[in-house]
Amino acid sequence: MPYSDHAVNLSRDQINQLQVARLRETVERARRAPAYAERLAGISAEDIQSPEDIRKLPLTTKARLREGMPWGFLAAPRSEVVRMHYSSGTTGLATAIYHTRGDLCRWSECVARGMLAVGVTEDDVFQNMMGYGLFTGGLGFHYAGELLGCMTIPASSGNTERQIHLMQSFGTTVLHIIPSYALRVLHFCDQAGIAPSRDLSVRVIFVGGEPHSEQLRRRIEEGFGAKVYNCYGLSEMAGPGIAMECMAQDGMHLCEDQYLLEVLDPETLEPVEEGQIGEVVLTTLRREANPLIRYRTRDMARLLPAECACGSAHRRLSRMEGRTDDMLVVRGVNVYPMQVERALLDVDEVGRNYVITLDRPEDLDRMSVAVELTQEAFTDDMRELNALQRRIERRLQTELDISVCVELHEPGELPVSDGKAVRVIDNRDQEK
Ligand SMILES: [Zn+2]
Repeated sequence: MPYSDHAVNLSRDQINQLQVARLRETVERARRAPAYAERLAGISAEDIQSPEDIRKLPLTTKARLREGMPWGFLAAPRSEVVRMHYSSGTTGLATAIYHTRGDLCRWSECVARGMLAVGVTEDDVFQNMMGYGLFTGGLGFHYAGELLGCMTIPASSGNTERQIHLMQSFGTTVLHIIPSYALRVLHFCDQAGIAPSRDLSVRVIFVGGEPHSEQLRRRIEEGFGAKVYNCYGLSEMAGPGIAMECMAQDGMHLCEDQYLLEVLDPETLEPVEEGQIGEVVLTTLRREANPLIRYRTRDMARLLPAECACGSAHRRLSRMEGRTDDMLVVRGVNVYPMQVERALLDVDEVGRNYVITLDRPEDLDRMSVAVELTQEAFTDDMRELNALQRRIERRLQTELDISVCVELHEPGELPVSDGKAVRVIDNRDQEK
């Protein structure tokens, strides 16, 4: 029987009611965790009458989560825990997140809902090209693929030649992949004389794991001749797929029956206006092993207004527009690496790879961007190259409001990785 999911059809009122009931349950459960017992002591069920009453509860930061390792945030008996994931994060020590059997089922249901919404069925062949292991990217989608009845290939990341061989041999129709790796696969195909849009059967691609721009999505769509859908998640909230785009490709619907969303100003911690950028703060509503209350994700995004064309009443998040901790301050101006990517992809001659370097000669911040050109755009004509360099510099200056030095490189000259690409090198701290 085809997979179905009733929570997708909840009305706004039903979602609100469910959120109040489940938030009360979550507070009761979270009290069992030593790290929350004291902090929730003054809160009772009567304090929570609407989803907005979430603001009466304390925030949880990554630093607190770290302090509570290994067992401080565990709210279930150890014997009920069936899995843990471990997230290194980009800064500081790793944190563990525990799952009961129920937690894992509900995570799969979130992801399956998003896959189903864009037409993935048991007839699909799903190649999951995210890393399996302590990182949540692989396993979260794996079980959702199986739940939907897809033939699921646990390909994991890396070994591009074998990935393409799998796609060709088994007629892969659906991928889950990091966007920078998708570009690498396209480049590999190009070199091998394979045209993915003609020679492969991929029709749906789920991307996540790193921020990326709309232009990058379009590039992947054109390359594969497939639809690309954005996914969001983080290990502290289970993992990828707790918010996913529908066919409208205009924001990711959060599974609001399982998570309560706030978008806050990271400085004042007050809610921002709908449509404004702020820090995504999430509360788990059904988590048994690791209920987390008002967890500050450090991801920056916007809450999108009004209902979606698809009819779902679950609210949508914009694509991630950076991290509170990857915001760069250059000569007093806030710069997100995502803005650089957006500007670069507006220039047709720019290839798939770039690196931002910051240094501080003579006490003044300097930002330079090394840019790979496409094969077609690369030339020995210095005059042409200089003109192109100036054009890219102007485009970046318009986007960022600061001057930027651009260096042009031949295709393939900049380093690439199978995992998250290193896009920013900040040398400013070492220079005194
Ligand atoms: Zn929608």
